[in-house]
Amino acid sequence: MADLELDGPLDAGLLHVAVGSAGLVFLFALGEGAAWRMLATRPAVPPPGARFGQLGPAVPGEEVVRLVHNSGLGAVVRGVRWSAQVPLQHRIASTFGKDPVFLAGDAAHAHSPAGGQGMNNGILDALNLGWKLGFASTAGRPLPELLESYGQERRPAARRVLALTHVIFFWEASPHPVARLARSILPALAPALPLVLRQRWLTSKGIRLLAQPFVHYWSSPLSVDGPPRAGGWPRPGERLPDAPAAVGGRPTRLHDLTAGPGIHLFLERDAGPVTLGVAPTVPVTGEQARLQGQLLHVHRLTSHPGRGVVAVRPDGYVGFRCGDADADRLHHWLRLVGVAGDWRVVAGGRQA
Ligand SMILES: Cc1cc2nc3c(=O)[nH]c(=O)nc-3n(C[C@H](O)[C@H](O)[C@H](O)COP(=O)(O)OP(=O)(O)OC[C@H]3O[C@@H](n4cnc5c(N)ncnc54)[C@H](O)[C@@H]3O)c2cc1C
Repeated sequence: MADLELDGPLDAGLLHVAVGSAGLVFLFALGEGAAWRMLATRPAVPPPGARFGQLGPAVPGEEVVRLVHNSGLGAVVRGVRWSAQVPLQHRIASTFGKDPVFLAGDAAHAHSPAGGQGMNNGILDALNLGWKLGFASTAGRPLPELLESYGQERRPAARRVLALTHVIFFWEASPHPVARLARSILPALAPALPLVLRQRWLTSKGIRLLAQPFVHYWSSPLSVDGPPRAGGWPRPGERLPDAPAAVGGRPTRLHDLTAGPGIHLFLERDAGPVTLGVAPTVPVTGEQARLQGQLLHVHRLTSHPGRGVVAVRPDGYVGFRCGDADADRLHHWLRLVGVAGDWRVVAGGRQA
């Protein structure tokens, strides 16, 4: 990486990418010490004691000049304000922790910046772990399954992200002959790129991929499904997508309803009345309710016909889905995540 002053015809409003058999060179006008930031991928042998992912020694000035010159972008280096070599690695911790020590972010997984996934990956860790620590600290009883589910959910998800970044980085920077060949052919196809980028279905597929829709927690102990299944809802362990909805006939959106912190319980329109609580019990016969402080929010969706119940976790993933307001299962799931405590759940006239 380097922050540079450049002369030449580069448009500061664009990201410039030069593809060559040796690797990629990115130039964009977001430098910190100078107008331009250069990011180039080159194979290297990290020195002993290299601090992976950390800023290492400066790039020799003549190499910076050569990289910019050989990129063919027409820019000329007027000054190098700062540069650093950043050795990259591809690793994942064998465990993401055990109560009371957990690993999140780059401490748990480290990979190349290809695809811009690192920060997002760490944020998803923090989001996943944060609510579990919060609930565990206020439940008043140990919640080992809840805390263990952090590693059970996030480690496989992080492995999928590592695989994605590895594939992207292979084509961007690998010295493997196949990758080098692909990179030497690609510039010839560059004139077709604007046409490809105008295909909205294709670009939206690419952007969706980088938004990590493949991150799911299907096999988590916190993902509980029916029976019977509630149709029209994501599978437990998947992110709740935004969609129009109505509460008491008022139009709203699912993501507006789940914006507040806590668990959000959606009752479909015809679900039986749900009562949560011990003494006094709190009947949830109205449209919306907030219970146990503000940890549990209940919304009856008049827009969604059916008798089912869906619980959305604080990190936006569906945790529980059932086509019937099954009090036993709902109670079990709420206890699992630490909301229910000693509460009882009564749904549709049945009591557990
Ligand atoms: C060149 C490059 C480009 C990148 N581009 C992107 C991108 O476009 N998009 C993206 O999503 N990600 C990108 N990443 C990855 C992203 O920067 C990291 O994944 C993210 O910063 C990791 O955040 P973190 O909080 O886990 O770790 P860090 O950002 O490393 O934070 C850890 C902090 O802990 C501090 N610390 C360490 N030891 C101690 C100690 N003993 N006591 C107290 N403090 C300590 C460190 O000083 C540091 O401030 C890029 C990474 C690199 C190297």
